[in-house]
Amino acid sequence: MHEWALAEAVITTAINAAKKEKIQKITEVSVQLGELQQINEEIFRYALDELTELYKEHFSKVIIDINIERTQLQCNNCEHTWMFDSMKDSIDEDEAEAIHFIPEVAFVHTRCPNCGSPDFRVIKGRGVSLSSIKGVKK
Ligand SMILES: [Zn+2]
Repeated sequence: MHEWALAEAVITTAINAAKKEKIQKITEVSVQLGELQQINEEIFRYALDELTELYKEHFSKVIIDINIERTQLQCNNCEHTWMFDSMKDSIDEDEAEAIHFIPEVAFVHTRCPNCGSPDFRVIKGRGVSLSSIKGVKK
């Protein structure tokens, strides 16, 4: 039910943003979904569809756009930042498969490409956020 809670948060945020912008009917919602956020995109999308139906006084033929946010890491030692994607080539297929299901596993093998430090943090690719809404003003 994780997906429903996140979808509800996105929809509530969208409705509040619309009120602030004096948007009467929301026609488009863009959502950023971190690739490390372990949620089922299909269920998430279904939940968003159901919730826009439930709160239909705020929406009109809404298009929901889900963008996957790629993982970005930052070294705690030298502050270098890099995309996790760029490292996927250097790992073998079995590891890649494991990473697909448990992204955290990947980080065991990860080192900063600049200084080689294993001490880094995730700066992008986690969480779900509303990136923009479009709609019809009063
Ligand atoms: Zn570094």
